[in-house]
Amino acid sequence: MKDFKWIIVGGGIHGVHMAIRLLEAGLTSIKELCIIDPHDELLARWNKNTRTTGMTHLRSPSVHNLSPGAHDLERFAGKRRSRSPDAFRFPYNRPALSLFANHNTALIEKYDLGHAHLKTLVSKIEPDESRVILIAKNGEKLSASNVILSLGVSDLASWPSWAPKGRRNIQHIFASQEILPASESERILVVKKKSLQCKFLSEWRERAIVLL
Ligand SMILES: Cc1cc2nc3c(=O)[nH]c(=O)nc-3n(C[C@H](O)[C@H](O)[C@H](O)COP(=O)(O)OP(=O)(O)OC[C@H]3O[C@@H](n4cnc5c(N)ncnc54)[C@H](O)[C@@H]3O)c2cc1C
Repeated sequence: MKDFKWIIVGGGIHGVHMAIRLLEAGLTSIKELCIIDPHDELLARWNKNTRTTGMTHLRSPSVHNLSPGAHDLERFAGKRRSRSPDAFRFPYNRPALSLFANHNTALIEKYDLGHAHLKTLVSKIEPDESRVILIAKNGEKLSASNVILSLGVSDLASWPSWAPKGRRNIQHIFASQEILPASESERILVVKKKSLQCKFLSEWRERAIVLL
């Protein structure tokens, strides 16, 4: 059974940030740390969800970044004169999604977090007196002195009961699979308010891709 000082379950925004914090605080070395996440890469869910929406800038300010240093992202963007004019947006100095993503990639490389990444799902956790035993989906057992759970929201997107399932033209924007692109004759309709959703689902049924 592999043993670690720290195991972080979930390699999203919070899991990656916690890993960096632990390393910076000297509470662990990279060899004693394991980040368990089923995706091929760390931050996969964040990257997929933000890409799917087509957002260009974060809604949070530049100081909310994955580095322990609040101004690290601004430094990463380089001197004001040489930055792309769209690197940060008013209000709150919100960074471009691409800049944020490049900064994250640089941090993952800097702290060598890829080497701590174990691609699997944790299906069971059994704490005993001194250690925590984690059982992976494939049956592998791991143990740790400390465990952080940073699971985020579920992969099961919340599907409203009134929306029909299994139809190509009704998709949930945060479903785990990629959104199917619209054909040239189709329009994409993004609906949020329930009363509008019911109306549009009946009226636009055959002509639009509706993102719930
Ligand atoms: C479109 C969009 C835009 C956003 N913009 C902003 C913004 O501008 N600013 C902001 O602050 N927030 C923003 N958010 C919110 C932000 O994405 C979330 O707060 C953040 O991603 C949560 O991070 P997390 O690490 O907790 O979870 P996640 O990013 O969901 O990561 C959790 C990870 O844990 C893994 N996991 C779950 N269960 C297990 C298990 N049993 N075993 C192993 N791994 C497991 C999952 O597969 C996943 O990879 C936005 C969200 C969306 C969808």
